[in-house]
Amino acid sequence: MKIIMLGAPGAGKGTQAKRISDKYEIPHISTGDIFRANIKNGTDLGKKAKEYMDQGLLVPDELVVDLVVDRVQKEDCMKGYVLDGFPRTIPQAQALTKALESLSTAIDYVIDVDVPDEEIVSRMAGRRACLSCGATYHTDYMPSAKGEICDRCDDKLVLREDDKPETVKKRLDVYHEQTQPLIDYYSKMGVLKTVDGTKIMEDVFEDIINILGA
Ligand code: AMP
Repeated sequence: MKIIMLGAPGAGKGTQAKRISDKYEIPHISTGDIFRANIKNGTDLGKKAKEYMDQGLLVPDELVVDLVVDRVQKEDCMKGYVLDGFPRTIPQAQALTKALESLSTAIDYVIDVDVPDEEIVSRMAGRRACLSCGATYHTDYMPSAKGEICDRCDDKLVLREDDKPETVKKRLDVYHEQTQPLIDYYSKMGVLKTVDGTKIMEDVFEDIINILGA
């Protein structure tokens, strides 16, 4: 089962993608996590990506397309995968469609987690991330049991640079301009499903299971 998660930054698509990955035993491929790991490890890719990420801008298509196209051809992706944060532009989506076509395959489901902008802004301010293991929390909706410390690996939690309010506003503008057109793109391909992302996490997941099948 090959799945793409769509939705504004902060809509909860990462959380849902992790749950889908666990339930259906398919890899969760988050381009944001891949970039953050590269930043942490000080790679050239990480250095280039950081310049854009810190400003709330998208990393150029050429830095992300090959990375994902290579990743989905790895052995562990044979049963499927859930893409989180990719594609984010029409050229990325077209490149993915073309690459999959050349492998005689296609995306099965695109799930759009729909949340209005006002709610996104208030949600993001409470978001906390562990830069060591990639776990994410929310001060109100999903706090770490250890406060500002990661439950999983005991590292300190932070408000990511790109989750700061001024950057969030920029990221939402970028989302509406560059990523929202994908809703139309995948709708025309007949694979788009929309879920109401304002519901509680469990209910959103249930709606997703109803789409994907138990
Ligand atoms: P995320 O964790 O998915 O919200 O991604 C964090 C940041 O990484 C984004 O704001 C972008 O700067 C960058 N990024 C992640 N995925 C992509 C992508 N598919 N295309 C361009 N930039 C991306």
